[in-house]
Amino acid sequence: MSPINLAIVGVGKIVRDQHLPSIAKNPDFNLIATASRNGTVDGVEAFTTIEAMLDAVPEIDAVSLCMPPQYRYDAAHKALSAGKHVFMEKPPGATLSEVADLEKLAASKGLSLFASWHSRYAAAVEATKSFLASTEIRSVHVVWKEDVRQWHPNQDWIWQAGGLGVFDPGINALSIVTHILPKAIFLTSATLEFPENRDAPIAADLHFKNADNIPAHVEFDWRQTGKQSWDIFAETAAGQMVLAEGGSKLSVNGELKFEAPEEEYPSLYRRFAEIVKAGESDVDLAPLRHVADAFMLGKRKFVEAFHD
Ligand code: NAP
Repeated sequence: MSPINLAIVGVGKIVRDQHLPSIAKNPDFNLIATASRNGTVDGVEAFTTIEAMLDAVPEIDAVSLCMPPQYRYDAAHKALSAGKHVFMEKPPGATLSEVADLEKLAASKGLSLFASWHSRYAAAVEATKSFLASTEIRSVHVVWKEDVRQWHPNQDWIWQAGGLGVFDPGINALSIVTHILPKAIFLTSATLEFPENRDAPIAADLHFKNADNIPAHVEFDWRQTGKQSWDIFAETAAGQMVLAEGGSKLSVNGELKFEAPEEEYPSLYRRFAEIVKAGESDVDLAPLRHVADAFMLGKRKFVEAFHD
């Protein structure tokens, strides 16, 4: 099969940090166009709207949508309607229903839709899934705490309705948890803390359980300064498991069991090529469903205003 002619929509931080280097190393993709109001990529034909790009470059086979989630549905709908496969950054949309609609559209057109979850491809995630399948889990604790000023400076969209606030990084933890646990969990109670001047939460404290009453406590906080925490702990019959540093290191009882170089975005593009070749879609909404449940069930607390 000849390389997939790819276009990127929404050229910003994650495109420069991760998409461009991953695409450049993958012979299955040929980046031929971008659509972004301001951003461009050296040497690649640039347009300011997806409509103009799709009209001008019919050779495009697939698009990667990397704008904030509130603006993804319209672009995805246009791309699928024009017969293009679609890769969506996480979270795949601003609502569950809009993503379900895109899934139906992709299926009706025989196109691939990929709701990507980069953290699921963190180095030690598969080893952790195998470990948890081999033992009895007694409890789970997720601590995902980072400094929003360091990681999301001046990103207004992230604080607006649909931007998810602290769930923007938190959904990465949920994408791992929903992949590694052998049984489904569901929310039983939650508290969301909203800065009084923002429409999205700065912190969330979530309690889940599964059908066997195994508890999972999940803490997200964007006010963490100093050491950043992206860790998942489990008490198991085989001892304490720690999946540390965003999914990159697995330890059991303090002994390092698995660590490997980071390959999240290269893995995402390998997966996208695989589903395009196989004529399939890959859309798992479990992480986004948990976020929706938190907004539905969670108590709201208003806290000090946040200024960048
Ligand atoms: P970003 O740089 O703030 O936004 C990406 C680009 O989207 C912007 O440069 C902008 O390009 C376009 N955009 C912004 N607002 C828009 C609007 N109102 N309408 C249309 N286009 C708009 O954000 P990012 O950090 O790259 O994140 C984008 C997505 O990737 C998010 O869903 C995020 O969760 C995900 N992600 C981010 C990271 C990270 O570390 N930053 C990591 C993993 C995943 P133009 O101004 O040129 O149109």
